[in-house]
Amino acid sequence: MGLADITARVRAAEAAAGRAAGSVQLIAVSKVQPLERVVAVLEQGHRLFGENYVQEAAGKWPDLRARFGAVAVHMIGPLQTNKAKVAVDLFDAIHTVDRPSLAEKLARLAQERGRCPALFVQVNTGEEPQKAGVLPADLDGFVERCRAMDLPLSGLMCIPPEGEDAGPHFAMLAGMAARNGLSGLSMGMSGDFEAAIAAGATHVRVGSAIFGARNYG
Ligand SMILES: *Cc1c(COP(=O)(O)O)cnc(C)c1O
Repeated sequence: MGLADITARVRAAEAAAGRAAGSVQLIAVSKVQPLERVVAVLEQGHRLFGENYVQEAAGKWPDLRARFGAVAVHMIGPLQTNKAKVAVDLFDAIHTVDRPSLAEKLARLAQERGRCPALFVQVNTGEEPQKAGVLPADLDGFVERCRAMDLPLSGLMCIPPEGEDAGPHFAMLAGMAARNGLSGLSMGMSGDFEAAIAAGATHVRVGSAIFGARNYG
């Protein structure tokens, strides 16, 4: 547990998979964590974080960036269309592009600004009704639609169903990315990031294993 331990485990998993050291980016998921825990990880030199809530991130990162310099922050939670504007100005990447209305909004904002965060399409690999994400059968069409809007797609993201072996979901996501010519794979969390790296993850999203358990109080 802790940043050093998880970083070492990421490096070991890269090596075990025959992948280059540093080919996997470790996103430290800081949502809902007390500020002192986030500061401690920044003081250890880590510069890539993940957040789930626009408002929480907007209240935290401008100050922390002023204090610590350039820090990349990725949006990994569901994004409401009416928060897209704040998100585009705050985040370096958005991992949760999951519907045409959001893609259209992001495309308009990108056009206005002349730049756009890196984008990942979230895929609902388990086809769970309560979960966000494009259904696997709709993915190729959605990617095509995003590209027609000139959106800069970096890759795909998934959150496998809880209590299921994540391996098949990671493999499915890797296959869909390859088929669509996308190199980024955002997959793997505290409990399964090593399996995700074995399956080709380029971005793992690890929260509690770095910071400790979240207290939603
Ligand atoms: C909270 C969250 C994580 C981190 O979960 P841990 O189990 O604490 O590592 C990763 N991805 C997403 C999308 C999350 O919402």
